[in-house]
Amino acid sequence: LGPTVCVGEILVEIVATTVGNGFMEAQSLIGPFASGAPAIFISQCGRLGGSAAMIGAVGADDFGRVNLERLKGDGVDISAISVDPDYPTGSAFVRYREDGSRDFVYNIATSAAARFGWSEDVSNLIGRAGHLHVMGSALSVPSACGVIDKAVDIVKARGGTLSVDPNIRKELKLDEATERRFARLVAKADLLLPSGEELERAAGVEGEANAIRRLFEIGVKEIVLKRGADGATYYSREGESIDAPAFVVREVDPTGAGDCFGGAYLTCRRLGMSPTDALTYAAAAGARNVTVVGPMEGAGTREQLDAFIAATERRS
Ligand code: ADP
Repeated sequence: LGPTVCVGEILVEIVATTVGNGFMEAQSLIGPFASGAPAIFISQCGRLGGSAAMIGAVGADDFGRVNLERLKGDGVDISAISVDPDYPTGSAFVRYREDGSRDFVYNIATSAAARFGWSEDVSNLIGRAGHLHVMGSALSVPSACGVIDKAVDIVKARGGTLSVDPNIRKELKLDEATERRFARLVAKADLLLPSGEELERAAGVEGEANAIRRLFEIGVKEIVLKRGADGATYYSREGESIDAPAFVVREVDPTGAGDCFGGAYLTCRRLGMSPTDALTYAAAAGARNVTVVGPMEGAGTREQLDAFIAATERRS
């Protein structure tokens, strides 16, 4: 089957080197790091040796080149990433607070990341895609919605599969049309990768067991619930569940854990691994990524993840 294709925002991230509140005083920063949740996901797929491709846009600037070179270096097909001559590459400035929460300054809405549409290159890629991965956050970008709707229909009609990471905070209110689009997308997911409260948000009901039941009723085929340092749990339609304990690491930068976890899980499944083995690589990919500063700097190759698994303790 054809490549795993991920659609959505491509950004650079610039990170404050000190912990504290916001950006009101002059301070030292490091970056740019290639970023954007969909880009982190597909980078992990490519690094693991899965056939991977990305749809999105960057500006004609160094921030765009940082992303293109990084993705290409990870083995990702970048033919359907457009280079916008008029708008800059999206960016996010991030500073961590003492309590682990983060302050952001974003430039996404007025960047190339929010302006890509359907094109001949996108059409060529979607025409051969075997799997599509969509993040709920991409639905807040109007131009991405059109691409996603069309891509989902084409890939599913050809017998391809869809994974969805809700990636939407519980408090975030979507307008009615976006909420309906999100619900339609979730119902079509072969694999759903929620983290924490997103499970209930995606199901529209309270309680973990109720949410799982509801999601299988509306059509989802497989769910992997991510719980940060508490690990993850796999649920099948047939009622099977498998716990995936987290590896014990020192967390330096939590950004990208869920995306590396998801990219590794999906790639391993597409390469024919059992859910149990795929969960081990996924947990390793998520854990390894939080030990390194930068959103996707810790994404691992198969060899790196094998070495990490051999050397790292797992919670019981
Ligand atoms: P998201 O980033 O989508 O919220 P999580 O934070 O739940 O996702 O992380 C996804 C997975 O990455 C977890 O299920 C776990 O396996 C791994 N992970 C994340 N944070 C840690 C951590 N501090 N220690 C060990 N593993 C982690």
